[in-house]
Amino acid sequence: MKPILFNFTDSELIEFLEKLGQPKFRAKQIREWLLRGAPDFASMKNLPENLRKDLDNSAQTLPVKIVKKLESSDGQTTKFLLELHDNEQIECVLMRTSYGNSVCVSSQAGCAMGCKFCASTLLGLKRNLTVNEIFSQILVAQWELRSDRFSDRAIRPNGDANNEDVSHIVIMGTGEPLQNTENVIGFIERANKDMGIGWRKITVSTCGIVPGIKDLTAWGRPINLAISLHAPIDELRSQIMPINNKYKLAEVLDAAFEFSNLHNRQLMIEYILLGKKNSDGETELFNCTPEYAEKLSNLLKDKNCMVNLIPWNAVDERDFASPSGNAVHRFQDILIKNGIHTRIRRERGQDIGSACGQLRLNNKKA
Ligand code: SAH
Repeated sequence: MKPILFNFTDSELIEFLEKLGQPKFRAKQIREWLLRGAPDFASMKNLPENLRKDLDNSAQTLPVKIVKKLESSDGQTTKFLLELHDNEQIECVLMRTSYGNSVCVSSQAGCAMGCKFCASTLLGLKRNLTVNEIFSQILVAQWELRSDRFSDRAIRPNGDANNEDVSHIVIMGTGEPLQNTENVIGFIERANKDMGIGWRKITVSTCGIVPGIKDLTAWGRPINLAISLHAPIDELRSQIMPINNKYKLAEVLDAAFEFSNLHNRQLMIEYILLGKKNSDGETELFNCTPEYAEKLSNLLKDKNCMVNLIPWNAVDERDFASPSGNAVHRFQDILIKNGIHTRIRRERGQDIGSACGQLRLNNKKA
């Protein structure tokens, strides 16, 4: 396997280049390119051509290699399929929005959580990602944004010039971040320090690993926390999320509100709206009946939170259906009537399988 230069310390990089007969300052030049996300040595324009070739033969730039890039039809979302040194594959998604450029990163290759509606967990967990593997996902996105200036995307549909920096990070890709808390925290610290991304522009989403939420509280940074709730009562939640057998709703919400209240932040609640097809082929509501809307309202009454409603995104292997637009609005109306802040999440990149829950491990057929 070729050494990955991004993983080298500064002195290791200098040593490696000395062996190729290169002076010290090359290490600094290469480090700058790596931090810009340069995917290959050919892009490192201030290096002599023979060095670029030597490096190409003997080393790799980042710990992730782009295997495939998919663009949504509106041109605003890009999904990257990335390969790691051990041939595992992960996905990350760049979303160009009116408020900035947001990157959704994966924290694990695969996922062990077994949620019944999600594609990410279909093949189980392969392994945790390292800090560098998570960080490289935003570098890949950053590099892509720089190349936007040479494309139609230099100007956004609303006429604004495109901002070329990653401004927001959501740790909502494949995997359960709070099963890899140490590396996720290491990654966030790094994104803040090296890329200047504010704590408040970073969101960690969890299915409700209570000790992990407590670790975030002890860590003390004012990031955003999102809880994948998806049901207002334990009995229903346990049917679709096995983790609920370990950490019950009340315990999860207590830990989560302790975190968000500490930082005076609104807790984000994610709630997928799930239907099921009956034998006549009609869609019956599963977790989004009016009765469940009332129960959810009671659970969150007077709490500082925002409920993001996400109509289920299709996953072929999963036996659910998306409820009708009417059912979605009826559910939302009940929450609003009860004074709960709520919005319907606009999904991005459904046409390229990059919406919530559609990211998968080995997307070799993508
Ligand atoms: N494991 C973490 C991070 C994944 S975030 C967590 O559970 O929060 C991905 C979000 O998309 C989660 O809220 C997840 O429950 C949701 N999701 C999973 N499958 C989905 C699907 N098919 N349609 C819409 N949302 C889905």
